Amino acid sequence: MGIRINYSVLFSVLALVLLFCMFKALKSQKPIGKAVAFLDVSFLPALIGNIIIVCSDSKLPAVFGYYLYFLGMNTIMLAMVNFTNEYCQGIGGGNGEQKPTVIYIGLWFDMAQMLFNPFFGHAFDVEKIEVEGAGYYQLVPYWGQTVHRVIVYLAFGCVMLIFTLGVLKTTKIYREKFSVILVAMICTVLWQTFYIFSRTPIDRSMIGFGLCGILIFYLALYYRPLRLLDRLLSDIVSQLPEALYVFDPEDKCIWINDPGKKLIDVDEKSYDIVPRRFGEVFGDRDHTPEHWTDTQVVGIGDEARYYYIQKHNIYDDKGRMAGSVLAIQDTTEEKRKVKQELYESHHDSMTGLYTKQYLFENIRRIIDQNKDTAFVVIFVDVKNFKIVNDIFGSDFGDKALIQVAEWITKNMTDKCLYGRLAGDTFGVFMPKNIFVPEKAERDLENFVVKDGAKEHQLLIHLGVYEVVERDIDVSVMFDRAHLSISRLKDDYKNHVVIYDNNIREKVMMSQKISSGLREAIDTMQLRPYLQPITDMDGKVVGAEALARWIHPVHGFMSPAEFIPVFEKNGMIVDVDRHMWRTACKILASWKGKHDDVFISVNISPKDFYFIDVVEEIMGLVKEYDIKPVNLRLEITESVMMNVSEDRMKILEEFRRLGFIVEMDDFGSGYSSLNLLKEMPVDVLKIDMRFLSGDDGNGRSSVILRNVIRLADELDIDTLTEGVETGDQHNELSHMGCKLFQGYYFAKPMPVDDFEKFAFSS
Ligand code: C2E
Ligand code: CA
Ligand code: CA
Repeated sequence: MGIRINYSVLFSVLALVLLFCMFKALKSQKPIGKAVAFLDVSFLPALIGNIIIVCSDSKLPAVFGYYLYFLGMNTIMLAMVNFTNEYCQGIGGGNGEQKPTVIYIGLWFDMAQMLFNPFFGHAFDVEKIEVEGAGYYQLVPYWGQTVHRVIVYLAFGCVMLIFTLGVLKTTKIYREKFSVILVAMICTVLWQTFYIFSRTPIDRSMIGFGLCGILIFYLALYYRPLRLLDRLLSDIVSQLPEALYVFDPEDKCIWINDPGKKLIDVDEKSYDIVPRRFGEVFGDRDHTPEHWTDTQVVGIGDEARYYYIQKHNIYDDKGRMAGSVLAIQDTTEEKRKVKQELYESHHDSMTGLYTKQYLFENIRRIIDQNKDTAFVVIFVDVKNFKIVNDIFGSDFGDKALIQVAEWITKNMTDKCLYGRLAGDTFGVFMPKNIFVPEKAERDLENFVVKDGAKEHQLLIHLGVYEVVERDIDVSVMFDRAHLSISRLKDDYKNHVVIYDNNIREKVMMSQKISSGLREAIDTMQLRPYLQPITDMDGKVVGAEALARWIHPVHGFMSPAEFIPVFEKNGMIVDVDRHMWRTACKILASWKGKHDDVFISVNISPKDFYFIDVVEEIMGLVKEYDIKPVNLRLEITESVMMNVSEDRMKILEEFRRLGFIVEMDDFGSGYSSLNLLKEMPVDVLKIDMRFLSGDDGNGRSSVILRNVIRLADELDIDTLTEGVETGDQHNELSHMGCKLFQGYYFAKPMPVDDFEKFAFSS
């Protein structure tokens, strides 16, 4: 009885352990967990079958035990095939798409044929033998049993094949672990084979199967071989980009990773020369401190390489020094990138000059460091650059700016700082004694940009601020330098202006004036004065509306004080629109009473840039329902000279609509008499004051007479303004001038006064 009890207890323990493994495997989060659980539970029927066989002393339970045993073997095979298939997929072997269907069919077929044994008796029978003095039912196999064995062995062969292939395909370091499973399975099967051929009553190989299940459970779900870990770690460390050197406590080099070998050019055999090589490359140093870091540059210029070196001692768990590690990191690329980024953030990409911010930072620093040096700040402005871009294209524009940058660079010494402030402006900073305005004037007199056949003379202005107030913001210094340029307007003769108190006051005044305009318009501080215009007999036929600003603080302001400011900043448009509207209002108030009296209004050249002058004025005429002929339009000669066809068309449009167009200030500019015949104007306004330089030889009267005659022949009326004496009036009348304006008749006056002056007689 001893053997029977021993085996049934052993099998039962195995079954319980497997059951436990199954639950553990089911609970594990790993993907292979389910397959392992199925495999572990699959051992149970065969084990239980064997327990029944071992314990039975009558035939029926023994036969039942055998059925359970054989069918259990099929279940084990099914579970093994399933496990192997899943496992090999997980480790990168096997092809998950192809399920080993043939094996499954074979195993199911075998189970079916075994189940037919009670009817055909073709598979096996049992015979009673004596074991330890008691009846034991031993297997008598027939051909069905042989089929069963062949199928099970074939299935097992397939499992081994899939497993072996899978293991071969996986990474080397994992092979060890799988080989253990493989060897265990093979041993168990060999044991089983031994049982079959030895015909011993009890299948002891069941123990092998059980242990196999436990082994697989452990290896597949828990086992982490240390050697594997070692190898894995050493591979990882070898592949780190850092160079690593491991030294023993006596400072003898014992291990170097691949980058480390490459860095100081040593191999496994030459570890002894490591300290010497190290000294040659990185210089000698004291290695004794426990921990140190250092940065080291090897080589110079573009060839230079940067390294970050770290040394650590390593201690075991008892605090004894086990060795040390030296880690060297090549930081060259990082350094270069940082340098490049820094360069890019400090330099303008097109001209290569400093950016505004970087320039300002450096200027601040130099000013603060050189308290005794006098400096100047220069604002370089390329005038009308937008037009250069428009006419010649932005490629040419870019080249022009690059040439300006080159000109600036050429004139600099190492004591100067310079950069690009914005699109077409540059900033320069230098000690005052280096700056030679005359030299700059000479250079800028004829600054021609060439690109292939394209050629253009650039107008460049320099505004210079001497850094007197050293504590103000650098940007304010440049603002001041910039402001001084405004004094040049579109001057082609002078290019350099130096900031002084005059400019400062002027600028402040301009700012004050500009900020007050809106209110001035709304409250009629800005209003027209009318200056009478008479015919030959002195009869008032019209008036010119001239702007006056009765300022609450500055008092009476003549246009000379504010018109130039607004012309420059474009606000002249608001002034003129206001003047046109008031003129129309006055004309509307005269309607029905003085329908033959006209008012002339001034149109600034800038108005044409900013608004549709025709639409604006026609709108007013319609709004106040006045006749266009009563609102005369004065346009300065320069507007007509400089401009294109378009401008001519506007003037023609005005005339077509019934307005009378007057050319203002004729003779003040460079107009040619020849141009007169092309000008779409009705009246020529000649300013006496332009001819007042007469040296007494009567030259101006000759000119006047001829201009008036020529105009007459071209069907253009003449109006002389600036008439101050009766003699002038007489002479001009004789010459054929039809209209007159000047202090001789009346000064510009408020509208009320004008109405009294013109209409009361
Ligand atoms: P302008 O259009 O040539 O106006 C004539 C200027 O000559 C006026 O100066 C007038 O007061 C002055 N004047 C008239 N008769 C005589 C004279 O006999 N002797 C002298 N010495 N001067 C005389 P004002 O009003 O100071 O205007 C100066 C300039 O301001 C104007 O020259 C015009 O260009 C501009 N301006 C005035 N009002 C406006 C306006 O509403 N819009 C625009 N765009 N410009 C205006
Ligand atoms: Ca005028
Ligand atoms: Ca005039």
